Amino acid sequence: KLDGRGTFRFFEPEMDVRMQTRRRLELDMRQALARREFVLHYQPQLNLANQSLTGCEALLRWKHPERGTIPPAEFIPLAEEVGLIVPIGEWVVRQACRDAALWPSSVTVAVNVSPAQFKSGRLVEMIVSALAASGLPASRLELEITEGVLLQNNEHTLETLHRLRTLGVRVSMDDFGTGYSSLSYLRSFPFDKIKIDRSFVKDLATAPDGDAIIRAIAGLGRSLGMTTVAEGVETEEQMRRIRAEGCTDVQGYLISRPVPLEELMRLLPQTPQDRLSMPGAAR
Ligand code: C2E
Ligand code: MG
Ligand code: MG
Ligand code: MG
Repeated sequence: KLDGRGTFRFFEPEMDVRMQTRRRLELDMRQALARREFVLHYQPQLNLANQSLTGCEALLRWKHPERGTIPPAEFIPLAEEVGLIVPIGEWVVRQACRDAALWPSSVTVAVNVSPAQFKSGRLVEMIVSALAASGLPASRLELEITEGVLLQNNEHTLETLHRLRTLGVRVSMDDFGTGYSSLSYLRSFPFDKIKIDRSFVKDLATAPDGDAIIRAIAGLGRSLGMTTVAEGVETEEQMRRIRAEGCTDVQGYLISRPVPLEELMRLLPQTPQDRLSMPGAAR
């Protein structure tokens, strides 16, 4: 300790600022739920076969009173580290189910779930309760998990996934292709949907084998009976190629950015019957 003292002092001011900023953010985050500073935005997914809007992904935003809107990349990792992702994630599920209960019955809602929520030991209970409270059928809720969840690869995680599946909840593999062993995860659980990571879509323009990779994943999905969604579709050209390579669905700025609920309600399909149960859409 004494030896390192010079070095420690050298880094001190900078470290201090960073630690203080982090600590401040953590304290703010502890209050944010009670202060209702979190909001969900929704990004639609489009089915390529019939051009219909099949589902929406809930994406969390933090309306910080001083710092404005903070994107998830800037606070979710900290929330995971300090355990706050469990209560925040519960709020996300409950809010998403409540919102989706107002949508046409053909539209599902997808929620991102962190590893810590699986470890909490009460994910299934919480989801059962959220579905009951909102009246949303389990089949309209989809959970998006990344390799982080399966990395824990313990009995508990798989058992939880199977219990959720038994309830009728759908499970998607998010950011497919970016992990260390995405392929082997497909073997560990029968996912409903593969979400092809945005980086592969981006590569379509530049990488010589870009199309071949998308085609291979789409084929894999088809063989396994899984839907394949291309993430981050921004241009007509990407859309054209993705369709040609056989993906079933697309999500991206070309279709719509993630939007607040009121805005989403205007994008949703309407039937006379749906309109009755969709007060927001009547406007
Ligand atoms: P993700 O689940 O892979 O979500 C997709 C991200 O890609 C979103 O970023 C979305 O806004 C962005 N995106 C969609 N289409 C396009 C496009 O065409 N171009 C570009 N450049 N980006 C596009 P966002 O909302 O910033 O979320 C980032 C990540 O934060 C999510 O990645 C997810 O891992 C995490 N996240 C978001 N909400 C939650 C949540 O409620 N709980 C948990 N645990 N994680 C969340
Ligand atoms: Mg996701
Ligand atoms: Mg993703
Ligand atoms: Mg991601």
